[in-house]
Amino acid sequence: KDLPQNTYEMTLDWLAAGIRPEETIVFIQSHVPAVTMLHTILSMVTQLGKLTDLPTFKEKVRQQPHNVNYGLVGYPVLMAADIMLYKASHVPVGVDQAPHIEFTREIARSFNHRYGKKVLIEPQMKVTKVPKVLGIYGKQKMSKSLNNHIEIAAAPEETTKRVMMMVTDPQRRKRTDPGNPDICNVFSMHQIFSKPEEIKMIDKECRRAGIGCVECKQIFAKNLNANLEPFRTRRAEIAKNPQQVWDILYDGAKRARKIAEKTITEVREAVGLP
Ligand code: SF4
Repeated sequence: KDLPQNTYEMTLDWLAAGIRPEETIVFIQSHVPAVTMLHTILSMVTQLGKLTDLPTFKEKVRQQPHNVNYGLVGYPVLMAADIMLYKASHVPVGVDQAPHIEFTREIARSFNHRYGKKVLIEPQMKVTKVPKVLGIYGKQKMSKSLNNHIEIAAAPEETTKRVMMMVTDPQRRKRTDPGNPDICNVFSMHQIFSKPEEIKMIDKECRRAGIGCVECKQIFAKNLNANLEPFRTRRAEIAKNPQQVWDILYDGAKRARKIAEKTITEVREAVGLP
């Protein structure tokens, strides 16, 4: 029941963040059924041990030990199919996804070698200048499913509330304790969203207890909200016409299917499927 709404909200986020459908094909994975065929074919050239060795799989097993299903094990193969079906040369990812990209490259090599044709492209990883963002409780990456995220489309008050919940340097128990910005997630967020002079001031004042964590977080929340303001305005504008968002997704699927069909034909030929 929630999935269509979540899909819509995520697409709104992307469009508001600046993804232009004229230049970028935006679509829903399941609208291109060829991905499941490629997934099945690739699973024949994938060793099970490689999948169960992936750190993301081990993490999921820790999180949900009572539901280690086949889909969870095979998910990276589906991701590989998702990349290679469109002959992607580069994939924008966070560093935690690096093993998946390397794994995709291995599958491409294995497939091309086995079937004697260079059908699949080995993709490269494209990491942004902020390769990993930790969640508000530190340690784990920011993730909606872990409920440690800050919603980019949330109201400013909600954003400030989440920022005020952020874990800081654990050694800093009292306002008078000096802190260490190098191990503080709030400080790493300042480095993305705050002005250089503010970052310099916090770096200095935190170390000599010249600034408290509450004040430091308030500065960060103000800067974060200022950064997100144009995004929120654009998002509200696009949301006035929900049908337009769905049309972008349907049109994207049509364009994606054309590319997918070409690849799957090449894959079928290479494998020998009549
Ligand atoms: Fe982190 Fe800022 Fe507190 Fe220092 S003052 S520990 S940088 S939140």
